[in-house]
Amino acid sequence: NSQTTSQTLIDGNTLAAKSLVAYGITHMFGVVGIPVTSFANRAVAAGIRFIAFHNEQSAGYAASAYGYLTGRPGILLTVSGPGCVHGLAGLSNAMINTWPMVLISGSCDQNDIGRGDFQELNQIEAAKPFSKHLGKAKDIKEIPKCFFEALDSAVLGRPGGCYLDLPTDVLHQTISESEADSLIKSAADVSEIEKGAKKITTASLEVERAVDLLRNAERPLIVFGKGAAYARAENELKRLVESTGIPFLPTPMGKGLLPDTHELAASAARSLAIGKCDVALVVGARLNWLLHFGEPPKWSKDVKFILVDVSEEEIELRKPNLGLVGDAKKVLELVNKEIKEDPFCLGKNHPWLEAISKKARDNVSRMEAQLAKDVVPFNFLTPMRIIRNAILEVGSPAPVLVSEGANTMDVGRAVLVQTEPRTRLDAGTWGTMGVGLGYCIAAAVAEPHRLVVAVEGDSGFGFSAMEVETLVRYQLPVVVIVFNNGGVYGGDRRNPEEIIGPFKEDPAPTSFVPGAAYHVLIEAFGGKGYLVGTPDELKSALSESFTARKPAVINVTIDPYAGAESGRMQHKN
Ligand code: ADP
Repeated sequence: NSQTTSQTLIDGNTLAAKSLVAYGITHMFGVVGIPVTSFANRAVAAGIRFIAFHNEQSAGYAASAYGYLTGRPGILLTVSGPGCVHGLAGLSNAMINTWPMVLISGSCDQNDIGRGDFQELNQIEAAKPFSKHLGKAKDIKEIPKCFFEALDSAVLGRPGGCYLDLPTDVLHQTISESEADSLIKSAADVSEIEKGAKKITTASLEVERAVDLLRNAERPLIVFGKGAAYARAENELKRLVESTGIPFLPTPMGKGLLPDTHELAASAARSLAIGKCDVALVVGARLNWLLHFGEPPKWSKDVKFILVDVSEEEIELRKPNLGLVGDAKKVLELVNKEIKEDPFCLGKNHPWLEAISKKARDNVSRMEAQLAKDVVPFNFLTPMRIIRNAILEVGSPAPVLVSEGANTMDVGRAVLVQTEPRTRLDAGTWGTMGVGLGYCIAAAVAEPHRLVVAVEGDSGFGFSAMEVETLVRYQLPVVVIVFNNGGVYGGDRRNPEEIIGPFKEDPAPTSFVPGAAYHVLIEAFGGKGYLVGTPDELKSALSESFTARKPAVINVTIDPYAGAESGRMQHKN
């Protein structure tokens, strides 16, 4: 009867699980152990899918990407001390990419702080540089409030990483179930999730000015990034681009918001588009290194920037001609509405469009000529062309493409075609290597209707290769294609004069075991492995694994001297 239910005692683990469910959390990533194993089990019993990893670093990358793909906070659960430290990799990645994530970590008993308790660490201090919000439940009664605050904070305003600390003693405290329920209710009542997230602060006057700038531009350009993808602004972008005829340029993860094959896509004429545009509307993308800081020589010194960003701080930092603060989707709705009052369109014969499409055609035909060759032993282009065609053949829903590595990612970005929003996950703002397997797992659970295809270098793969077991354990539809050139950047690239010193017999710092049998790794767990070195072998492995939609690793032998050191960023190494 209700009398007994309300008297039933529950502990911190159960209350934590209940709080997640009450917030609407459906997935968690992590590694269990002291003191969070019971919490994970209770969460599963309460209906949450817990994806158990080998290492918190990969689990953290998964949580960050899950946040990006779903717009809901990605949850990483870690044990105290070292587990939390490993998890900081994921938290920092969420922070730098502005993706919503909460790292929930167990921590040592509060009564033993400072005495060298098991896995003791001041985790709040450790997480501080990577968190937009830090919370600690010091008593069981604080659990619901701490959870709702951390989860809200991850998604409100500019999304980011948040940290929540759950001490061992708090997880073991108990309260009555009825008190727990009322605490959850009060936490939910003050939750801001429905209010601030999509707040539009942009004034109508600014929207008018933005439209005027675009209307009067001679060479306008629309640039969009993963912030626009996160905002799910694809329909508004399509309408804006197609009603005005303004060419567009996606950043790497903005690719797919409008299909790469769109006639107004300027990607193949990127240098011309950014070098010559006079007004650039930049939506959900920072003018950081990826966009050459918006400065000469890549951009014209007179270009007028209109920035759309949910973060006021970002706009203040860049000092554009005009900043529109707000959610990209909402702001673009206003922009489209304003344009509809007095429409304008560049028209097919506009000299700016002609210049861009001519340049794009020239560049594409030059690249296609290279791609058309079957080079064996494989360079990067030949297998990439075969993979591109196999991915396109899958059709819709398009696979999620995960990409990392220096040359593999650079070449893949240019060759692989993105046709649907949020189908590209790569090394991102930090150029983080080692994200591949975590991202694959996140994509497979967040987008179960899609195949997931990773195209990564052997070095990127190696960071978290053990997670192929996780793929097999959950039977995720993930095909990992490893471009195996035997090392970071490839073979030993040192000049003979550099190979000196007492350890000169050691392999080069860039080298791995040549011919490593990465495909055998997944077979150890019952997955499918392929070793390929020719176009026919690759085509057959792709066709079989894409149809099977089961965990597979395709180990592609690449000429160790085919790639460049540091890919396209040699000047920085
Ligand atoms: P990219 O790497 O694709 O160039 P960035 O990560 O540099 O993109 O920039 C993404 C930007 O998008 C960030 O400045 C972030 O504040 C912003 N952003 C995040 N969510 C939204 C949103 N809903 N609407 C508009 N901007 C957003």
